Amino acid sequence: MRKKIVAGNWKMNKTLQEGIELVKELTTVLANEKPNCDVVICTPFIHLASVAPTLKGTVMELGAENCADKASGAYTGEVSAAMVASTGAKYVILGHSERRAYYHEHAELLRDKVQLALANGLTPIFCIGEVLEDREAGEQEEVVHEQISNSLFDFSPEDFAKIVLAYEPVWAIGTGKTATAEQAQEMHAFIRKAVATKYGKEIADNCSILYGGSCNPKNAKELFANPDVDGGLIGGAALKCADFKGVIDGFNA
Ligand code: PEP
Repeated sequence: MRKKIVAGNWKMNKTLQEGIELVKELTTVLANEKPNCDVVICTPFIHLASVAPTLKGTVMELGAENCADKASGAYTGEVSAAMVASTGAKYVILGHSERRAYYHEHAELLRDKVQLALANGLTPIFCIGEVLEDREAGEQEEVVHEQISNSLFDFSPEDFAKIVLAYEPVWAIGTGKTATAEQAQEMHAFIRKAVATKYGKEIADNCSILYGGSCNPKNAKELFANPDVDGGLIGGAALKCADFKGVIDGFNA
């Protein structure tokens, strides 16, 4: 069965001390009440090596928010997938809409990043999602299909099976406007069907597809109750212990 995952994306928030404090709070609440899903904390690069030891022995795994599209060398300021993996991180978010929009990350570059992440044993959380104009034009399916196929459909079935997908309608990210449970289910089912058409039913059935976009403790349960929604990629609500725990509780009966 595919994994249920709640992953927090801290983005460019939290000093190291604030981040460690949050992890300590989460460690306590999650030890008291075991989550019904995997929990991943994705932090800025600079925090990874310090946060990693604090997560040892907890239910939480560590992830990065990005990695370089090159393996190593003269790329000042970049951080490679090998470096991310060497901190103990297991996941890496790739293709986030903020990276696509502000840093012009395109399909081929993202394919290279995914390849390097996989080669270094990291699980990519690969983000896809349409902007508001696409949705208003009724083109969300075409846009999302293109994003997946242009970056991921050259991978072997074995490699594709290691990737987690995150459907994040851009109009819902950080806006307080969540996709309705129906809109989320509709898109997740479409994405799973596209994966099945390319890689077959077994790989599609085992592919975790997370929802992202203003997911919070109030709407998590309804979103996660959909058969094709396997958890969430959480921005704003990942920054406070009570909010993140509230989202994780979306998987509690
Ligand atoms: C995100 O950045 O991936 C995200 C979903 O953000 P938010 O939850 O704040 O909308």
